[in-house]
Amino acid sequence: MCFGVRDAITLAHEHAEAGPLTILGDLVHNPTVLSGLEAKGIAFARDVADVSTPTLMVTAHGTSERNLARTRALGFTVVEATCPLVTVAHRAVAALARDGYHIVIVGQRDHVEVRGLTGDLDRFDVILDDGDVLMLEEHPRIGVAAQTTQAIEKVRHLVDSIRRRFPQSDVRFADTVCKPTKQRQSAAVEMAQKADVVIVVGGRASNNTRELVKTCARYCARVHHVETDADVRREWLDNAAVVGLTAGTSTPDAVIDRVEARITRISELP
Ligand code: SF4
Repeated sequence: MCFGVRDAITLAHEHAEAGPLTILGDLVHNPTVLSGLEAKGIAFARDVADVSTPTLMVTAHGTSERNLARTRALGFTVVEATCPLVTVAHRAVAALARDGYHIVIVGQRDHVEVRGLTGDLDRFDVILDDGDVLMLEEHPRIGVAAQTTQAIEKVRHLVDSIRRRFPQSDVRFADTVCKPTKQRQSAAVEMAQKADVVIVVGGRASNNTRELVKTCARYCARVHHVETDADVRREWLDNAAVVGLTAGTSTPDAVIDRVEARITRISELP
């Protein structure tokens, strides 16, 4: 689990002990972690209108200044569990916008982190593939930043595509993909190249887990995404000499350990 997610969970537990707490959205995209927090009496809400505690927590994915101000104006005490590396991304986007760059974010338009990154901007674009680059309009200055959990290879490719499409524009790239994501991606590539089967553990809604699945699939033909050990199917491991195991940044060690134990049990079956 990356430090950003670990610290956010610790903060949630600390505040839950001090008084009633509602977390706005998923603190992390991992059902096992979320049910552990619910067991501590922490409430979850999708919308501020559904929050009935005086204190609410913004998740590790962060939010915009505008949204923070709106929430505080409603009388809530806001606890920010925003990962410091998401804050770095917010600052990079703000600096580009201040310097007159039209902001383009590489990420998922509806992801909470991307909504936070763009929430203080009046004009911006969000792109995810080459098709989206074709839809962009020309601007003299284009500032590109990324959702922290995007695959860096893909982000660099899209920055190159923007530069090719708008050769007259000043295209500046702020690399906001976080270090834990980069390390995990490069380790996953190395592992997938050697493995017959790769199993990626993490929540279905976790962006960095899904990016890991896509990255591994470029180097290994048999890649499976599981949330828990119960999802691992025996036939996946048929004729596999090497099984690679990796996990998204929000996956608890205990969940990974149980998946590993199940793989070992299956491999020992006659
Ligand atoms: S994945 Fe990166 S940005 Fe997101 S919480 Fe972890 S360290 Fe922070």
